Amino acid sequence: LNELFSSLPTTIFEVMSKLAMEHGSVNLGQGFPDAEGPETMKEIASKAMYDFHNQYPSLLGVPELRQAVARHSETNQGIPVDWATETLVTVGATEGLAACFLGLLNPGDEVIMFDPMYDSYVSMARRSGATIVPVRLQLPDFSVPLDELAAVVGPRTKMIMLNSPHNPSGKVFTRSELEAIAELCIRHDVIALCDEVYEHLVFGGAKHISLRALPGMAERCVRLGSAGKTFSFTAWKVGWMTGPARLMSPIIKAHQFLVFTVPSSLQRAVAHGLENESEFYLSLGPSLGVKRRYLEEQLAALGFGVLPAHGAYFLVADVSKFLRPGEDDVAFAKRLTVEGGVTIIPISGFYVGSSKPTHLARYDRTWSGYRTGLLPDRQASNPWG
Ligand code: PMP
Ligand code: GLN
Repeated sequence: LNELFSSLPTTIFEVMSKLAMEHGSVNLGQGFPDAEGPETMKEIASKAMYDFHNQYPSLLGVPELRQAVARHSETNQGIPVDWATETLVTVGATEGLAACFLGLLNPGDEVIMFDPMYDSYVSMARRSGATIVPVRLQLPDFSVPLDELAAVVGPRTKMIMLNSPHNPSGKVFTRSELEAIAELCIRHDVIALCDEVYEHLVFGGAKHISLRALPGMAERCVRLGSAGKTFSFTAWKVGWMTGPARLMSPIIKAHQFLVFTVPSSLQRAVAHGLENESEFYLSLGPSLGVKRRYLEEQLAALGFGVLPAHGAYFLVADVSKFLRPGEDDVAFAKRLTVEGGVTIIPISGFYVGSSKPTHLARYDRTWSGYRTGLLPDRQASNPWG
């Protein structure tokens, strides 16, 4: 048995969603929207199945989606992309991330990751033999400790992993933070892996800037997107990637033996979405902003200390006031599900470094129930109820 995977616990998302189902709680844990994406995309996907788009497409993805991905990059971030050599369609961003770690890293390489981080990075980067060097984002606004970051870049640093807008915090990296990261990458000849699945989910005056858009970064940066987040179809598991051909080449080799390809019916629907449904994805940020304000007010009124955020699905709150003696965030999250009827995600599981904070919890705030007053009605707002 593989030592790494056989010793891993089940991901916290699965654990908390299962508990939510068992107790019929309102699930503000695992992040997914309760409103679905554009009808046109569902129609195209189902029509494509009836139109015989049911056999293996190219391992790179269908040309119309790769062309749409290239145009989307240029339109939204001003980053030109050659669709023929610089794009790849993946099984969600999750598979794209795995292909990047396997294709780009060697045993002994160091990868700098900001702590806390999305859980799938850790195991897949370690499985490639690399060592994770965590740099802790500073509370309360999860800012980048630039001196500490500069100090850990060394001769073995191969990659800096950046996730903006950030899961679990909702932080949107600022231009000055991105410029400092870019400067380090260029000075030390380091690759950047940019998980930008929440690129359109920003609000409150924040602007998402891709690290790949900064001068000198296009040739050393791979950037990932997700139809799950951009079109609220999280079960479709269609993702995309853009990057320079020299980096894409080994990633594509890893992708070909991880999954080979992605359902072409869904790819065609996502191509349509990227070309024609910008109104949909550009409206997601403002609507999440409204939901955030509502949830923030309610939590603050109850005594939770809500931390600032400008993007993604999430809100992080300080739950210290509610912890019983000896109780940590994991035990609190379980108790809240069982006794309070609300499921959240404890944050300690997102940390890799030592002395993890155990007083923070993540709330998913994509639910329309906040606004329609369904929140107190557990059964009505529980999709499994
Ligand atoms: N990166 C981050 C930061 C995420 O939050 C998620 C979804 N939870 C993913 C990647 C994976 O995206 P997908 O569902 O497209 O595989
Ligand atoms: N993006 C979601 C989250 O972070 C779902 C993750 C998952 O279920 N793997 O909650």
